[in-house]
Amino acid sequence: MSTDESAVLKSGGKPQVTMEKLVGLCKRRGLVFASSDIYGGLGSTWDYGPLGVELKRNVKEAWWREMVQRRSDIMGLDAAILMHPRTWEASGHLQSFTDPLVDCKACKQRFRADQVADGRCPECGGELTEPRNFNLMFKTFIGPLEDSAHAAYLRPETAQGIFVNFGNLLDTQRVKLPFGVAQIGKSFRNEITPGNFIFRTREFEQMEMEFFIPPDPTQEARWFEYWVELRLGWYVKHGIEREHLRLRPHGKDELSHYSRGTTDIEFLYPFGWGELEGLAKRGSYDLDRHAEFSGKDLTFFDEEAKTRYRPWVIEPAAGVDRALLAFLLDAYDEDIVEDEARVVLRLDPRLAPIKAAVLPLLRKGGQVEKALEVRARLQPHFPTAYDQAGSIGRRYRRQDEVGTPWCVTIDHQTMSDDTVTLRDRDSTAQVRLPIAALVGELNERIGWHR
Ligand code: ATP
Repeated sequence: MSTDESAVLKSGGKPQVTMEKLVGLCKRRGLVFASSDIYGGLGSTWDYGPLGVELKRNVKEAWWREMVQRRSDIMGLDAAILMHPRTWEASGHLQSFTDPLVDCKACKQRFRADQVADGRCPECGGELTEPRNFNLMFKTFIGPLEDSAHAAYLRPETAQGIFVNFGNLLDTQRVKLPFGVAQIGKSFRNEITPGNFIFRTREFEQMEMEFFIPPDPTQEARWFEYWVELRLGWYVKHGIEREHLRLRPHGKDELSHYSRGTTDIEFLYPFGWGELEGLAKRGSYDLDRHAEFSGKDLTFFDEEAKTRYRPWVIEPAAGVDRALLAFLLDAYDEDIVEDEARVVLRLDPRLAPIKAAVLPLLRKGGQVEKALEVRARLQPHFPTAYDQAGSIGRRYRRQDEVGTPWCVTIDHQTMSDDTVTLRDRDSTAQVRLPIAALVGELNERIGWHR
């Protein structure tokens, strides 16, 4: 990860928000809290608060809609986190899912060998040991006996749940190649150097899709390019600036043990370029290994070619938490409205935790009752907020800060003609419209279909 370009300017010429500011906002407004805070926190683990959980669900749903529900060639799956330990022998993770570690002989701290620049301890300058391989999988035991026969692992990627179900899917779903299987779920990695807020944690969520194709390098190249472009477009379509994204093909020496070729989609975080999503050509590596270790026939019968083979795989693997971080970073903005500074999260309305806030201008004249009635009308359609505390300007700014795209204001006129004002978060422009038209107008503006 390079830090050379960390002082990037947003397209409006504003510097990107610092991580510190974003973490502060997330805590203050209940998006993300440090986990186990009352005990001093557990390093690099985070809890999503009431607004954060909505945002996270929206990120996952946006992915699921695009990758599963809107397509006819991809199906979903939800496999268990605990899997048979043989899975990890077959997948190669037991042997190869390691990071090289060095210890400082003086202060005893541990570092990833590839992250120590000059061979001395980055903390105290002490001498380092030779690198040793450290497996990143979390180990546990199934049942009451804590011995090696009962050892199990928390999955370090969701993908293996898809590969071990390949036979079940062929047997129960009528599929022809190419087809994909998608899954969202928690993964665990005992990272040596977690950090940068929710960028790298030991418990995180992944959105992975395994796309099965005939074993043919030409088709592989074509589909790989297709998926790289589609995934890049997904981020842009949901609010990431194109110039904050770049593609980085892996060199031969850094490929994962299962990969025939990998390209990362990188994002420009405040600390520099870092991975957002990885796209890998996994070939038939996983199905071959599971066939060998399980003794099951994991071949596909190609009706047209009248042959059996194990398909090749293209995998776009994204992180929910990293995507959420990138969406927040690019949405964060500060501007001046009516001579007052405000913080505004310009989130895509589909991702925004709350779609509309209903605000009575005054707490009298029946406006409160009317506002609650309007809220009750909107709430079955999308998450809404209600706020009657403080000046109207302050209430708008509270909503801007958490990315609520629209505020619906009930005023004196509402009481006589059943119209409200609708204020737009980004432009702060207001229009007047009938209460009866609100749901339709807001659904249209959210643009679910985009
Ligand atoms: P890195 O090089 O940053 O360690 P990786 O190449 O090991 O990541 P993959 O195995 O390709 O990551 O996992 C796919 C995606 O899962 C990543 O692009 C990232 O979004 C997410 N991810 C992986 N590890 C973590 C982690 N420790 N914390 C949060 N997200 C993660």
